[in-house]
Amino acid sequence: MLILMDVNATGEQTQAVCKRVEELGYRPHPLPGATRCAIGITGNKGAVEADSLSQMPGVAEVIAVSKPYKLVSRDMKAEDTVVQFPGSGATVGGTELALMAGPCGVESRDQLFRAAEAVAKAGARFLRGGAFKPRTSPYAFQGLGEEGLEILAAAREAFGLLVVTEAIDHESLALVDQYADMIQIGARNMQNFALLKLAGRASKPVLLKRGMAATLDELLMAAEYVMSEGNYNVVLCERGIRTFTDHTRNTLDLSIVPAVKKLTHLPIIIDPSHAAGKRDKVLPLSRAGVAVGADGLIVEVHCDPDHALSDGAQSLYPDQFSDMVHNLRGIAQLVGRTMYEAQPVPAAAVVAR
Ligand code: PEP
Ligand code: MN
Repeated sequence: MLILMDVNATGEQTQAVCKRVEELGYRPHPLPGATRCAIGITGNKGAVEADSLSQMPGVAEVIAVSKPYKLVSRDMKAEDTVVQFPGSGATVGGTELALMAGPCGVESRDQLFRAAEAVAKAGARFLRGGAFKPRTSPYAFQGLGEEGLEILAAAREAFGLLVVTEAIDHESLALVDQYADMIQIGARNMQNFALLKLAGRASKPVLLKRGMAATLDELLMAAEYVMSEGNYNVVLCERGIRTFTDHTRNTLDLSIVPAVKKLTHLPIIIDPSHAAGKRDKVLPLSRAGVAVGADGLIVEVHCDPDHALSDGAQSLYPDQFSDMVHNLRGIAQLVGRTMYEAQPVPAAAVVAR
């Protein structure tokens, strides 16, 4: 159920409707749009008794939503969601292409600071790097944990980057929410519903990666889990899916971008690194991602990929990343996107390394 408020409805009228929804035992989700506010209703087992709501002052229309996902749907909010980061001009889902880059994992302060310096100089606004690594083998590098988050937070201060890093369970999610600017939920956890609910109660935007065998509906339902708990700042990420193809690590499903754009107002970014698995394919896939209309890219960059503790083969050298950013400008312009101009990196930040 969805309540569309009148264009001229007052804030008090919207609040009164939300209060009435609560009295009926449901949860209201007011999502302001460009011209009017929509109020999604969740928590109802069957049809909501619409009559009393449709008669309230300021209510334009009460609409039954037939799709299983409600809050993520374009029916709920026609305009694109633009995720904002307080204190920073960066956005995801606006005109500016969001560029996130950094190593797969945080390995040491020196390693992360070198990578942060390189990606900041190239024009990335977001620094990626896992402090908690979900690995196929229990014997592989698992990440530095909270120490990794401290290093990421220090790099954010030094280079003015926003930090995006993965949470893998309840404990790490609480820590990531505290240290980072964006909480990554990895492909392996896309259907960890308890974790999704927790991310829905966190204070930071969520980067939700598509599971490696997840359909579009399943991805949208995972986003619905986060939003249903009250966190409306969700960014989807296509990172490649499992197919019979063996020339790449995964198959980048670019066609999900226009499909997502049709069904939901949420932004979607592309991860060409985990899709390709090899660095020589990252540039062409990035170009395709921008061309198809993705809202940004998340790319692995490492200064010494041969000695990386995870995903070295798919990590770009800093020079390749900076060439890539130059290379993307033309395509970005063609599809009506702007790109952030790299700012000089403070000398003190480099010394601090
Ligand atoms: C990662 O971003 O390093 C990662 C583990 O990604 P995914 O969850 O897409 O495999
Ligand atoms: Mn990785």
